[in-house]
Amino acid sequence: MPRKITTLVSLLVALALIAAGQVVAPDAALRATDEVLQSVSRIRGLEVKQPVKRGLKTRDEIESAVMRDLNESNTPEEFEASRKALVKLGLIDADFALRDYYVRLLREQVAGFYQPKTQEFYLAAWLPIAEQKIVIAHELVHALQDQHFNLRRFEKWPKGDSDAELAAHALIEGDATVVMYRYVFDQQGRAVDTRILGALIDMLKADSDADASKYPVLAGAPAVLRESLQFPYSYGASFVHTIMKNRPMADLNLAYTRLPASSEQIIHPDRYLLFDKPVKIEIPSLSERDWKQVDADVNGEFGYQVLLAEFIGKDRAQSAAAGWGGDRYALYENSRTGALMIAIYTTWDSERDAKEFFTAYSQRTQKRYKTDAAESSASRVVFNTAEGLVAIEMRGADVVILEGAASRAEIARAVEKLWQSKKQ
Ligand SMILES: [Zn+2]
Repeated sequence: MPRKITTLVSLLVALALIAAGQVVAPDAALRATDEVLQSVSRIRGLEVKQPVKRGLKTRDEIESAVMRDLNESNTPEEFEASRKALVKLGLIDADFALRDYYVRLLREQVAGFYQPKTQEFYLAAWLPIAEQKIVIAHELVHALQDQHFNLRRFEKWPKGDSDAELAAHALIEGDATVVMYRYVFDQQGRAVDTRILGALIDMLKADSDADASKYPVLAGAPAVLRESLQFPYSYGASFVHTIMKNRPMADLNLAYTRLPASSEQIIHPDRYLLFDKPVKIEIPSLSERDWKQVDADVNGEFGYQVLLAEFIGKDRAQSAAAGWGGDRYALYENSRTGALMIAIYTTWDSERDAKEFFTAYSQRTQKRYKTDAAESSASRVVFNTAEGLVAIEMRGADVVILEGAASRAEIARAVEKLWQSKKQ
């Protein structure tokens, strides 16, 4: 998956389901910060250690803040490498300007953001007034998280570990989103109805499409971008809501010490509670002659959901990606021809899960390249596509994929090497 998007922004889409609150002007809303902070502190069960700085930002100011964050977390080369991985997986067009689109998307969607570096939060100056206090509540949860758990430690995540980073991000955003919903109940003088809260969060999870007239940039975004942007809020909120059932919010604090380790644990909170640790995989280098490695990362269960759903539908994709045990991919670029090749090693909870993924990935490949398999058996499929050869091979509960090789000899050599990957 593309390297995450770790800026702590609140998105308008995450607010769309919330009933209108009190109507106040932005500066008046900001003046209410201390009062909102007291409410949020009580709801979340975290004391206020220090006052929180606040401000309003115009679209241009938000855009430059987002750009600065983006440049600090990813060099343009790293961003371009992630972009190429998405192109090779068939999730965006070859000429899609991912970085520009992403900035436009945030420009449209940002409702507010919290900056751990300066410990300040900002509200979008154009925000519909009914939503201002709700966004402030969300941002203030980040301020409290920061005062108690230090959010800066999440800013410099090791490279090539995006799935674990996405999981941590989902905890942070899910926590803030759940408290934000609880704040709305609180403002209406109602006790939190867990069933209604659960139903609201389920709606957030189910509805990733956007209203094109209201949010044209989001509605026109490639699914991978839309889904990645929304995952921490929707699945994160669902994760937090599930693990907090019948427990005080303060118990959630433990999760900041024992972080969720994968998108699998976020999607299936029971795996987090059992602490089903992901298998770490190290794949040997396939660099030779003209092939140079340009990117390497972990897709995770969420990554496979998205990349399969693009071609075989969401339901089948979700089912095939479940049972994920661990994975790693490496992207290679041919320095002479510019061709891309991706090598993937995946491991599954059982042989049945591996088989389901093997079958789903084969069907996805057939649709992706609009061509039938040139060779097919129960554990090996080869496609001859306009973008090189694709081999998908299964052994026990593991499946390896090599996509974009130039020749049969090359694929045989590389697949054999790929099977030498180390698991721990
Ligand atoms: Zn947030």
